[in-house]
Amino acid sequence: MPKDSSKPVTAPAKLISIVVPMHDESEALEPFRAAFDRLASSLPAYRFEFICVDDGSRDDTLNKLLTIAEADPRYHVLELSRNFGKEAALTAGIEAAGGDAVIPIDADLQDPPELIPLMLEHWEKGAEVVLAQRSDRQNDGLMKRASANWFYDFYNKLAPTKLPKNVGDFRLMDRAVVDALNSLPERQRFMKGLFAWVGFRTVTIDYVRQPRTAGASKFSGWRLWNFALEGITSFSTVPLRFWSYFGAVLALVTLVYAGFVVTKTLIFGSEIPGYASLIVFILFFGSVQLISVGILGEYIGRIYMEVKGRPLYLVRRRHGERSAPEETGEKTGEKRDGG
Ligand code: UDP
Ligand code: MG
Repeated sequence: MPKDSSKPVTAPAKLISIVVPMHDESEALEPFRAAFDRLASSLPAYRFEFICVDDGSRDDTLNKLLTIAEADPRYHVLELSRNFGKEAALTAGIEAAGGDAVIPIDADLQDPPELIPLMLEHWEKGAEVVLAQRSDRQNDGLMKRASANWFYDFYNKLAPTKLPKNVGDFRLMDRAVVDALNSLPERQRFMKGLFAWVGFRTVTIDYVRQPRTAGASKFSGWRLWNFALEGITSFSTVPLRFWSYFGAVLALVTLVYAGFVVTKTLIFGSEIPGYASLIVFILFFGSVQLISVGILGEYIGRIYMEVKGRPLYLVRRRHGERSAPEETGEKTGEKRDGG
């Protein structure tokens, strides 16, 4: 965060941190930079800093970032030691951000930066969170739209804090909200859920999601499925409780059926055949038990991961002038440099 010494020092302009997780975004970098140069010069009342988190890119994203950061002191580069996934990269960036407001945004400009002036306006009027909501998802495939819809419905039935539909990570957050987020200790970070959980005064604005400027999406169907599972298990224990009720109902049904079998035997005598019902019950109860054990396993696995207490991400190096806040994040083997 460089002080611009050419300007008279009255009340310092507010600092806006733009946090960008990047994984193989080499092609998207130039358009990104151009868009934000335009934006920053259209908003002279604010200072900007860009926290670019290189999430283990295999292409030359990092090199390009470093070249940019060398020429432009507003750019800070957080180099993670490997690919930790978008949620961890976002967390790393948000923890490193020092702005009065923080805006996480994707590198591919699918979330239009042109929305930021409006976000700032709402923020200045007192909103602590300004959500950007996709008013349509025409640029996502049919499958992605359907599954996203289904996920939000299901999630909101199960979890006590509702997720606003079609809201991504693109949003403006006041310092107070960022501090609240940073204080959450959990390692498995379903950011959308955490964002919703912390609350605060929220304003929603609509936008149309753009197609990617360059490159391809990193989220395959399988990755999204796991992401959804993560979200639900992080914020709801309904899937655990469900089996108690299901078991109780089944026990009742079984009791009724047992009464029927006993009565029938008393009246008509014992009959040996019964293979069909037996095998059906065995298979049915067997699979029900496996499913419920599997769900137990999902949660136990997550408890296990939390209990290990490993850091969420490891930083190989921080490039850029400003040192990050001390109290948060990872510590091990981290090198810092200035410039
Ligand atoms: N991303 C990341 N780490 C990953 C995958 C993605 O930091 O392991 C970043 C990516 O560079 C981009 C953002 O997360 O800035 C969103 O990714 P993408 O555009 O692939 O997702 P989609 O828009 O298709 O949901
Ligand atoms: Mg994208």
